[in-house]
Amino acid sequence: MAHSFTVDLLNKIGAEAKKLVDPMSYLHKLGPIHFRWHQGVTVRRIGFLLFHYHVIDNLKKCGGPAMFGGVTAYTRAQFTAFGHSYDVAAKASKGNLDSLAAFSHDIEGWHNEAHMAIGMATGVDMMDARTNITHVEFWRLHYFINAKFFQQLQRYDPSGSNAKRVAKIEQLHHSDVGRI
Ligand SMILES: [Zn+2]
Repeated sequence: MAHSFTVDLLNKIGAEAKKLVDPMSYLHKLGPIHFRWHQGVTVRRIGFLLFHYHVIDNLKKCGGPAMFGGVTAYTRAQFTAFGHSYDVAAKASKGNLDSLAAFSHDIEGWHNEAHMAIGMATGVDMMDARTNITHVEFWRLHYFINAKFFQQLQRYDPSGSNAKRVAKIEQLHHSDVGRI
């Protein structure tokens, strides 16, 4: 399985929004997909970091960041100010998919509480996966997480670009895609 139904769907709605020059239409279609992913089935076919990587990739493709007036990742200092310092210690090592999966697991746990902490600090509803994607705060959190993902991805696979690293994992390790 080189292709994931969910990734194909994200790419499709991203391309449609790009064509329409209507990034809001991407968010409207993303809402239910994002909700379904988080509701979770017992077996995930695409994991936390990879799923949100594609969510961001398509936001960028359809001009979403400009709609928000630009998206800047939160800083570590901001998370500390929210009362939820970044404390994920897991590190990926070269060629070791288990270590990358462990990192994904740890940062997802941290991220669940980050959603709550940001919601408390800003008054924005960050807990409804159908609608939190319409708030820039959601994207600022996930840009931060994506940057942390890239750091670990580079440790796991020092060659090429991040897009190529992701593609390689999705093509070569399809049975592991659900845990990364
Ligand atoms: Zn999410």
